[in-house]
Amino acid sequence: MNAEILAVGTELLMGQIANTNAQYISKRLPEVGVNVYYHSVVGDNPNRLKECLNLALQRSDAVIMTGGLGPTQDDLTKETVAEIFNRKLVLHQESLEKIKGFFARLHREMTPNNVKQAYLPEHCKVIENSNGTAPGCIIEEGKKVVIMLPGPPSEMIPMFENTVMPYFLQKSSYRIESRYLRVFGIGESALEDMLLDLIEKQSNPTIAPYAKDGEVTLRITAKCEKNADAHSLLMPVVEEISRRIGNALYSIEDKNLEEVVGNMLIENNVSLSIAESCTGGLISGKITGIPGISRVFKSGVVSYSNEAKVNILGVRQETLDRYGAVSKETAVEMARGIRELAKSDLGLSVTGIAGPGGGTVKKPVGLVYVALAWEDGVKYKELKLWGNRERIRNVTSLHAFDMIRLHMISKNN
Ligand code: ATP
Repeated sequence: MNAEILAVGTELLMGQIANTNAQYISKRLPEVGVNVYYHSVVGDNPNRLKECLNLALQRSDAVIMTGGLGPTQDDLTKETVAEIFNRKLVLHQESLEKIKGFFARLHREMTPNNVKQAYLPEHCKVIENSNGTAPGCIIEEGKKVVIMLPGPPSEMIPMFENTVMPYFLQKSSYRIESRYLRVFGIGESALEDMLLDLIEKQSNPTIAPYAKDGEVTLRITAKCEKNADAHSLLMPVVEEISRRIGNALYSIEDKNLEEVVGNMLIENNVSLSIAESCTGGLISGKITGIPGISRVFKSGVVSYSNEAKVNILGVRQETLDRYGAVSKETAVEMARGIRELAKSDLGLSVTGIAGPGGGTVKKPVGLVYVALAWEDGVKYKELKLWGNRERIRNVTSLHAFDMIRLHMISKNN
């Protein structure tokens, strides 16, 4: 079966919001044997919506629409679909009761236009919305199917997962399962080289590397009978890749680096504090996004100026005068300083030149030092990064997390 995702909303066309719904749905549908061939976006205009839907129905077996199910006049998705399929919109009493209940729970008055949301094309399968007011629906017409889902991702995603995925799975004879392996410290081409024979002889599962901002993700995808065990197809490949690339493979569950590191710290009860210069709190911000990190994260200091490095962290003025703020010596003293100040097991520091200004021939933009101090040792890393300020700061944060990760691995062995 092939599908088209048709997102409705002028906000999308105006660039005010990104079409994350299409991205989400596209990533999931192949897993239930549905190939996505087209994405389209149309504004809240009935004629253009009709035109897009007719075209989508000509070229695709399934059309999944998101948005335009709201209570206002410009929400036209259901009306347009009903018109194309020549069906009446009829009141779905159960949905109306749910909408009333939704407003009652929030102690908010329900306005009359909300009743519109309980009207659905006749003979459709209603998709309940537990997180909002607009129900969705599935309409089958001959060999075609149109599925309508609300725009807000917080409503769309649970409805898609609970109803749409099982709907397609039940129709499909096979399914596709993917594993996302996250790799740090080996570039995309070097990684491809290490896995070339596997990639070249791949058929099922397939292996596809893609790089993003300093790290590489490997997608391993297996196709199997609907009720077969995809795991047994995927795991030998995952294990072989793991054997070849070793510690550079940091997650086989599509977790990001800060999540992996945060959980390692929590599981091993190792406390951390961070002193940041060029990343300005980015690393502390990322680590505090991990649930439960309060058990081990002690403190994060943004020591941007030289005075802050001296007064807060105890970096020696002499070190700054002699080697400069962006130097391995300063990074090491910052890491030791924050560790002592916060009384944590580990002290991490970052100092560098994120650009675009501030670089010199000796110390160009992208020169960054990351240091990690522990009870009886300290190590540092010199990075020479490229890219704009945002990229340099972000890639620095990845190197910093990876330094903690590798340290934890070596201590645990
Ligand atoms: P509601 O019941 O909230 O009115 P709706 O189905 O009418 O939902 P829209 O009015 O089209 O949906 O969009 C509501 C909000 O949902 C948008 O402001 C936007 O935040 C989000 N949204 C809509 N479409 C998308 C999309 N394709 N990707 C991501 N977010 C979206």
